[in-house]
Amino acid sequence: MSKSLSKSVISGEHALIESIRCRVQSPSSALRLGIGDDCAILRPESGEEIVVTTDFSLEGVHFRRDWHSPESIGHRCLARGLSDLAAMGARPLAAFLSLAVPSEFATTGKGRIWIERFLNGLLALARHWKVPLAGGDTAQSPQLACFDIVLIGAVPRGRALLRSTARSGDLIYVTGSLGGAAAELLALERVPHRFVRLTTAGGDHPHLFLQPRLSVAARLAAAGLAHSAIDISDGLSIDLTHICDESNLAAELDAASIPVHPLASEAVRTRLTPSALDLALHGGEDYELLFTASPVAKIPKRIAGVPIHRIGRMLARRARQAQIILRDHDGRTTTLAPRGWEHFRPH
Ligand code: ADP
Ligand code: MG
Repeated sequence: MSKSLSKSVISGEHALIESIRCRVQSPSSALRLGIGDDCAILRPESGEEIVVTTDFSLEGVHFRRDWHSPESIGHRCLARGLSDLAAMGARPLAAFLSLAVPSEFATTGKGRIWIERFLNGLLALARHWKVPLAGGDTAQSPQLACFDIVLIGAVPRGRALLRSTARSGDLIYVTGSLGGAAAELLALERVPHRFVRLTTAGGDHPHLFLQPRLSVAARLAAAGLAHSAIDISDGLSIDLTHICDESNLAAELDAASIPVHPLASEAVRTRLTPSALDLALHGGEDYELLFTASPVAKIPKRIAGVPIHRIGRMLARRARQAQIILRDHDGRTTTLAPRGWEHFRPH
């Protein structure tokens, strides 16, 4: 049973933890012990391997409280971790949330409501994917809010989808469409007050309420259809470069086959950007899956209701040759340099 945060009396760290604890589901088959002890206890099935990922959501870097609703920040926090599990073909077992927030989040009505709404967004997505919030850490930070999500998943032994196992001649596929998240972020920068009101995942909001592709990933992993996979977090050009580097291969992309999100085309019409294709290639944060598969593998046009597009092929890497070649609509080829989001990049 979950209780409303607003009904509990909150003061200090312990009360904040209790207010989270009373909202989470009771233990399940995969989670023997959740919040309340020094550690959680997980029970993967025999024959499974454990996969682990952790992701920061930092105020001023990943979100702004005047641009994003608390629900969107909570949703994005969990969704980014779930997308990493999808990229490995894993099923989620449990999530752990560490939060560091200024004292007013625990001591003022406004702050407590903000946390309640943040949890509404995070826990709605957690319920959807049946992933329990099994623990975390709570600390006071001087000024800015910081969240870290740890996701634990399970995958049948030896079946995880890796970046390093693409093969020369593989075809490259992508789920959904690209450039939508970057386009929504550009629109948000222009009129933030319109977007900060968006509090639920209804409608198509690829930046504010991104959808991790766990169902597609589960089907790919179960059918053994993919040789390698990654989720597109930093941008197609950067994330495909990661597959090339880890697999020691090169790649060729067909510009005409890249599925461009309608919001990216809309961003050209509203003069937010000159090129929708550039947003699709370099925009980042789409959290779609990029995977490679044998040319003889039968990849459906839709998996779990999500469209799948073939966008290129993996090639043998030759010395002094560009890693990614882009073939444009006229058949001309150019080198595609990795360009997208990167922390610590010199400006
Ligand atoms: P310890 O000091 O032993 O690390 P804590 O007092 O920090 O324990 O945490 C007590 C329990 O509450 C633990 O089960 C921990 O996982 C959980 N917890 C703490 N902070 C959070 C949080 N932000 N979200 C979910 N669970 C939390
Ligand atoms: Mg302890």
